[in-house]
Parts: sequence; C-alpha cells; structure tokens
Amino acid sequence: MVNSVRTVYIVISCDTDPDRVGFLDGVPHGKLAWRGVTEGIPAVKDLLRGLTDSTGREPTFTWLLRADEQIRDLHGEYAWVVRTHSSLLRWLQQSGDELGWHPHFWRRDTTNGRWFQELEDVDWQVEMLRRAHGDLATCFPGAVQSVRMGWAYHNNRTCAALDELGVTVDLSALPGYRTLTPHPPTRSENLFDWYSSPRAPFRPSRADYRRPVRGGETSYRLLEVPSFVSQSIPWALVSDSPAHLLHQRHGPPRVFRPARDPAPHCAATLW
Ligand SMILES: [Zn+2]
Repeated sequence: MVNSVRTVYIVISCDTDPDRVGFLDGVPHGKLAWRGVTEGIPAVKDLLRGLTDSTGREPTFTWLLRADEQIRDLHGEYAWVVRTHSSLLRWLQQSGDELGWHPHFWRRDTTNGRWFQELEDVDWQVEMLRRAHGDLATCFPGAVQSVRMGWAYHNNRTCAALDELGVTVDLSALPGYRTLTPHPPTRSENLFDWYSSPRAPFRPSRADYRRPVRGGETSYRLLEVPSFVSQSIPWALVSDSPAHLLHQRHGPPRVFRPARDPAPHCAATLW
C-alpha cells in the first residue's frame, strides 16, 4: 500500500513596515511609527502560543525588517530598525524566528518633498541596496539571508545585487500576478511581473530573474521562494486575496495574510 501522507513545508514571512495611516490611530504626519513592530509582533507570538504542527513544533517566522532610503532619511540611518529594537529582535531569534530584510525603493521627490517608488533609476536602486546592506552588516545579528522586496518589485540588476550581497533566499515572487501598465510607469504606480513564475521555489535565471534557467543559461545562487497565492475563490475572499483577479493595476500586492494590522503583513509559502 502506498503511503499517501504528504509533508507540507510552510514558511511564514512577514514584512515589518511602519504603521499605515487609516489602519492605526496616532500615525504622525511626515514621520514613521512602529506599533506594528513593537506591539503587533509580540501580539502575534502570544496569539499563536500553543499552536503546534503534527510534530509538536510551534510556528516560527521570518521577520523582514525595513532598511532603505526612507528609513535613513526619516530616522538617520539605514539600519535604524535593527539598532533601535535590538532586544525585541534578540527575543525573536531566541524563540527560533529568523530576521531578514525588506527594502523599499521609496525616494523623496526633491521638487515637492513627496515620497515615490523609484522605478526608473536602476543605478540608484542598486546603490541604495548596497549602502543599506553595508549599514545592516555592521549591526545585523548574523548574515542577512532572506529578503522580500517592497511591493514585490524586482529587475535583473536588483536580483543580481542581492545575489552579490550574499542573500540566499528571495521571497518576492507572486506567481500569476503582474501589474498592467500599458504605458511606462509613472510615480504613482507600482510595477511588477511574476505572471509566469513557477509556484515552487526555483533558482532564477541570470537572463530573467522571474523564471528558472533555459538552455545554456546560468542561475543566481539565491533561491527564489514564491509566496502562496490562493487559487480558491472562497479562500481568496476570506484572505483578502481575490486570486481570480490575476492582474493588479495599482498598489501593493495582495497575498495571503494570516495576520492583519497592527500586526505586520505576512505571506506564506507552501510546498
Ligand atoms: Zn513593505
């Protein structure tokens, strides 16, 4: 008789962005607030205490920490989150959780002071990643191994930059999802395209970070680990992820979220 028991491995990775206006009270204008981190993360840990899998183990998380130009501009240093919350982060690591990196490409428009997602200046993107990683490396507890890019944005050069910086897992892929941009991106739009990416982890091709190698291509060393994207309409509706809407025109990607604000935004990978 064939053993039909299948083991499902689950990675729960959470972006720890600042608090969003409209989700929490008291978010100051022009500044960043972090109750999602300081209150939300302990609340999630408390809520799930005692929940175990079939082997008796409690869930562990990968907390992806912001370190980018917006954090440097508003807090004075790229790695401010890591330095300021070191005791909380140490507690998380001691509980078995992993710490990772969540860089956004927010850039301040010098003409009006507003923040926009830098989608066009790839040299700036790569340089910012290198600088932020350089500061993280001075205080991060261990190596930065896991990353999810802000708003799921990537291109071949940003993927190559992460690979060169020694990142081993990228969690940005959203299989089946892409933004629809009939014209070049403007400063109010997001941009990503994971439409044809596989749903299982893969080594991205250096020719196209969104897919595995073909023919004689070579791959990056890092492993692309896609988020779980539900194909069940009822499940999609309760998880705020209408999977039948495979395209998105604006805004951040919507993926399976086991937790809502003030907890950080979480995504799961199942395979
Ligand atoms: Zn984010």
